[in-house]
Amino acid sequence: MTRFQMIPRLVLGMGMTCLALNAAQADEMTTQTPSVEKHSFGQLPDGREVEAYRLYNGHGIDMQVITYGGIITSLRTPDAQGNVDDIVLGFDALEDYRSEAYRKSNPYFGALIGRYGNRIAEGRFMLDGTAYELATNDGPNHLHGGDKGFDKRLWQAHSFENDTGVGVELRYISEDGEEGYPGRLETRVTYTLTTDDEVIIDYHATTDKATPVNLTQHSYFNLEGEGSGSIVDHRLMLNADAFTPVDDTLIPTGELRDVAGTPFDFREATPIGARIGEENTQLAYGKGYDHNFVLVRDDAEAGELATAARVVAPESGRVLEIATTEPGIQFYSGNFLDGTLTGKGGEAYEKRSGFALETQHFPDSPNQADFPSTILKPGDTYESRTVWRFSTQSDDS
Ligand code: BGC
Repeated sequence: MTRFQMIPRLVLGMGMTCLALNAAQADEMTTQTPSVEKHSFGQLPDGREVEAYRLYNGHGIDMQVITYGGIITSLRTPDAQGNVDDIVLGFDALEDYRSEAYRKSNPYFGALIGRYGNRIAEGRFMLDGTAYELATNDGPNHLHGGDKGFDKRLWQAHSFENDTGVGVELRYISEDGEEGYPGRLETRVTYTLTTDDEVIIDYHATTDKATPVNLTQHSYFNLEGEGSGSIVDHRLMLNADAFTPVDDTLIPTGELRDVAGTPFDFREATPIGARIGEENTQLAYGKGYDHNFVLVRDDAEAGELATAARVVAPESGRVLEIATTEPGIQFYSGNFLDGTLTGKGGEAYEKRSGFALETQHFPDSPNQADFPSTILKPGDTYESRTVWRFSTQSDDS
């Protein structure tokens, strides 16, 4: 019996109020009707309950989000033959997201990242004449919000349904001084799973003091199914004609380098592994791809969505398209995965068994005057949207 079948479920369907159904009825309904199930995902050591929300789009896709870290623990989509697989790396149990082994390798599977996605050099920045010091949790640098970033916080949540689908809204207040950042940041992130097979991620934040903010989502995808091996045969298109080269600690040098003639040119769909082993200083620093790409936004205005990426899995025919309002995307080819963590399907997550495409402002922007600013000021609102669209194709274009 699965965890789900053991507990009575509360199903919230489109246009419905609360219905108590037995497991068989609920399964039947959730495959055909957009709906949300809620259950417990365990407790934190201080007794606080972690909730799981399972979203069904009534069109073959379901996704589970937990209130710890806003983590997407599973995302199941059909392949070109209609077989459903879970396509994100992660675990079935809260303990696995909090284990010593997990903390050591710190992959941030599926989590919301904040207050600042990616690195800040030496954990230092100046803002309005004041020097701020943050945790250095990645060699000499600050990474993904510090020792206890938004990925390790308990968020308040509620589910909703609207004309586009079903979703969950998560809220977290990051107090003034938390992890060394100035200002009390009120953060809201909404995941909507649409009946058009999209996941829409909306980020919203306000502050009472100027502060850097760069929120992102850190899902690792394997479109052939999590635990099915390497992602190097996935074909990737990135709508970027430049990237931000880094030093050997993965801090951008400040240059925006043309991708033409380099292994970083993904303007035409190319297998991730086609050039990953080439002799190239940037690939050596990242141990593969671990770089921010500068997105071509054509005439998209600030706040408008522009195409960022398209990934095709050759075996299953699954396609992921990403659009965003952000100026950059971090393409990380799972280089630091090393087989020490075993996923929900029982397979070890080896090097390159998943990839992340994190929509964002550029790394280390608080120290780079020429990068688009990440400073949120009191009275202003941080708004960002990213859309993942899932489909399938039967050729390998
Ligand atoms: C970073 C990688 C890091 C990974 C997991 C990515 O966003 O760019 O360097 O290893 O997150 O922490």
